[in-house]
Amino acid sequence: MSTNNIAPLQIQTQLRKAAFYGCAICGCPILEYVHIVPYYNIQAFLPENMVALCPYHSMRYDLKEISESTLRSAKADPYNKVHQQDTFSISSQEMYVNVGKRIFVNTSRILVVDDFDIISIKREDGKYILFDINFFDKLNNLIAIVSENRWTAERGSREWSIMYKPRHLTIKNYSKNIIFDAEIKNNKEITITSAGMHYNGSPLRITENEILLNNDEIAIDLKGTELRNYEVGIAAETL
Ligand SMILES: [Zn+2]
Repeated sequence: MSTNNIAPLQIQTQLRKAAFYGCAICGCPILEYVHIVPYYNIQAFLPENMVALCPYHSMRYDLKEISESTLRSAKADPYNKVHQQDTFSISSQEMYVNVGKRIFVNTSRILVVDDFDIISIKREDGKYILFDINFFDKLNNLIAIVSENRWTAERGSREWSIMYKPRHLTIKNYSKNIIFDAEIKNNKEITITSAGMHYNGSPLRITENEILLNNDEIAIDLKGTELRNYEVGIAAETL
């Protein structure tokens, strides 16, 4: 996080596209925008001095476990450029989002609680998946944010683990037992499950079959159905 002065959105977009929507080193879609020569030496957001990295590789660069020249070659030849099949993307015309056996098509705001967006999904450049996710703990502290795949965590990323295997993303917080999992299947459907997330102190859990708020199943009427072009997928209230 030390390099994580927030770059203007248009520079973030430029860096994300240049890296084919993944960490330049490993292809993980969850990103930080890192200065190659440190910001405090440059005092500017220069795209040529910046690169998209996952939180793990960003941390390793901070610790000088990755050299500047390695990073510059990764920027010039990012992982996803030569591993298109590994990218977190769905190239079919329609994207299906499966949340507890409710299927949403062309619906961006997937889960909204008390009018607050918890999980949203969209695609950029026709196929690359971008998440907005807000992670609250049970005391209603916002402890991590994914915003168009850009990662921000309150106390750095050390207690978080962001793992990526081709087409399968897992975000975990071990001390708070939070897990968010998103996997692409059949190149058209993305399945989301989660545990340990909260909003307004209420636990929120998504299994393969259920969506639970305060341990009660919600959106039962939508179960087993395919919903198209909804403004909001699942809207719930904590009270
Ligand atoms: Zn990485």
